[in-house]
Amino acid sequence: MSEDIRDLLLDVACRLMKEEGDGSLYRMPIMGFCDLHSPEAKKAFAEVAEWHSSPNQMLPGANSAIAIFIPFSEKIVVSNRKGKYATRDWAEAYVKTNEMAQRIGTVTALTLVACGEKASAIPPTGSFDRETFSGEWSHKLMGSLCGLGKYGLNRMLITRSGCAGRLVSVVTTHKLEISLQPAEEYCAYLRDKSCTECMSICPVGAIRADGFDAAACFEHCSRNAENFLDLSSAMVCGKCATVRCAFGPA
Ligand code: SF4
Ligand code: SF4
Repeated sequence: MSEDIRDLLLDVACRLMKEEGDGSLYRMPIMGFCDLHSPEAKKAFAEVAEWHSSPNQMLPGANSAIAIFIPFSEKIVVSNRKGKYATRDWAEAYVKTNEMAQRIGTVTALTLVACGEKASAIPPTGSFDRETFSGEWSHKLMGSLCGLGKYGLNRMLITRSGCAGRLVSVVTTHKLEISLQPAEEYCAYLRDKSCTECMSICPVGAIRADGFDAAACFEHCSRNAENFLDLSSAMVCGKCATVRCAFGPA
């Protein structure tokens, strides 16, 4: 039964993308599942409890989470490689992919409700604390718990479809069978120090081997947003997601 629902959810998301998506902006989504009561999930939520909402706050009685990654198309990724500032193509893809992610999240939740469960989709973008440089819900954390990928030196989640794209997540009362975690590192720096491309491309030096300058990254994304005042919430940069692990594990 659980596997049937997993297949159904992925099928629904893929159909929505095929029927209503813009193939020039993104590739097909991938999906992962986790048990919110597992020791790994409890540990992860305890570590971020100061700023992160609990699954129960999002949906009382939540048992499982679903993470969905929508990868950008090659054209969009390549468009953003050059220059200090984000390209218009990248900013527009960011906004439109967030809209598609929101729709996929909502349809996923509705599908679970139609199966007799409770479910809630958490929007891909939400409130953001400018003191801690974090939102109240981390889709990257959910992607990691759901086995979609591993963190890279660029602090992105590198999935089997890369790190350039958008994530959305859904919590549900349904007890879904969990996805396996990748065994190996997906970042070549973390594996054997054979890549530092994201460090080199970052226009403000925010990515370092010994830490991440979230303030510098935030400031640069805010500066980019000023270039796209006609687009809502285009706080973007993404240069570090266009290099070696953009389309898959490095
Ligand atoms: S660009 Fe290279 S160093 Fe940076 S996250 Fe990707 S694989 Fe790791
Ligand atoms: S998003 Fe841009 S500013 Fe932020 S770390 Fe990546 S390359 Fe640097």
